[in-house]
Amino acid sequence: MTHTTLAGAPFVATQNNDLYLEGVKLADLAHAHGTPLFVYSKAAMLSALAAYQRGFTGRNARICYAMKANSSLAVLQVFAQAGCGFDIVSGGELDRVIAAGGDASKVIFSGVGKTRAEMRKALDAGIACFNVESEAELEVLSDVAQSMGKRAPISIRVNPNVDAKTHPYISTGLKGNKFGVAHERALATYQRAASLPGLQVTGIDCHIGSQITESTPYLDAMDRVLDLVQAIEAAGIAIHHIDFGGGLGINYNGDTPPAADELWTQLLAKLDARGYGQRQLMIEPGRSLVGNAGVCLTEVLYLKPGEQKNFCIVDAAMNDLPRPAMYEAFHQIVPVSARVGEAVMYDVVGPVCESGDWLGRDRQLAVQSGDLLAVLSTGAYCVAMSSNYNTRGRAAEILVDGDKAHVIRRRETVADQMACESLVR
Ligand SMILES: *Cc1c(COP(=O)(O)O)cnc(C)c1O
Repeated sequence: MTHTTLAGAPFVATQNNDLYLEGVKLADLAHAHGTPLFVYSKAAMLSALAAYQRGFTGRNARICYAMKANSSLAVLQVFAQAGCGFDIVSGGELDRVIAAGGDASKVIFSGVGKTRAEMRKALDAGIACFNVESEAELEVLSDVAQSMGKRAPISIRVNPNVDAKTHPYISTGLKGNKFGVAHERALATYQRAASLPGLQVTGIDCHIGSQITESTPYLDAMDRVLDLVQAIEAAGIAIHHIDFGGGLGINYNGDTPPAADELWTQLLAKLDARGYGQRQLMIEPGRSLVGNAGVCLTEVLYLKPGEQKNFCIVDAAMNDLPRPAMYEAFHQIVPVSARVGEAVMYDVVGPVCESGDWLGRDRQLAVQSGDLLAVLSTGAYCVAMSSNYNTRGRAAEILVDGDKAHVIRRRETVADQMACESLVR
């Protein structure tokens, strides 16, 4: 019996030519539940979390899962049960945290466009902190909190102006981004915040981008943030917690991001050297906790040879898995049951009526119609970004735990999709 694990997908393994996630044979899941089908490994999520927990041993640190990466209830439940807090970006996400058994007092609320209604809802729930992204938002939040007889705990998201060296759409820490308050404006913004009656300054926050595969941008950002903490505290405003955001990358295609514990060994050494090692620390990892825990199973519908390109048309599409269309992102695509035969170069594409609807380009595959393929590293920013474009129902989701497979989202029907609509009468 051969047993190999796939790079970038530590809990996916092949046994006798069949792909497994933990103890579950993926072909069996596809036959039982249909395709496209997202399957997640609980062990992979907990192992990714454990790397952060190891990194923070002996520290006062809170890990707030950035749930926009994958907000399916049972995924949130895994992290809630493991003691995590949550980083939310909407009022709807707060409802999901509570529905999944999460603790509102461990929630931090990020995002540039919080509405008054969302602020009220979060204040009612008693969240830990608002990560405020602009001076205008400070004024509104103070106003809302005051009208409720409360003081909103806040940190200000500062923009350290470091280049995270990632895709422009997922880089957030540079001056040209819409996120955060410019480094030069930070002190004045903190002084304004401290003067507003509805606010309680508690911390500082930064988040420089996503799919970051080097330590240097984090180390640079930390220096910039600590310079600000020093200046803000010198002005008499106490900073109780420091939040370094998320953004750590994963291995999609031979990427070599630092392991979370190694990254934090370096960052904590810097914090200690600068005398901030005993502060309350927070982080907001998303992708690095769930990205490599998921696979998307899809069936080959048609092979379409062409003069310039051969197309492998599958039943998953950009509405299920938008990252390739949106960021030209790379996902490994492998057969679920290997077959002997000559491998041919294909573009793997979906049925959606857009040329941007591709999942992988120039892939060597030995496949026939009816075969199953697995798109790897699809635990983050896939289902959470999925849509009903072309009136395609959202895929079903399965959570694997050892040799057990739990349906955590049933396949969406056309009736589900039309439920909010009505004809003109
Ligand atoms: C998206 C986001 C995160 C998580 O980013 P990942 O790259 O998934 O780790 C964390 N914090 C904020 C404010 C975000 O917008």
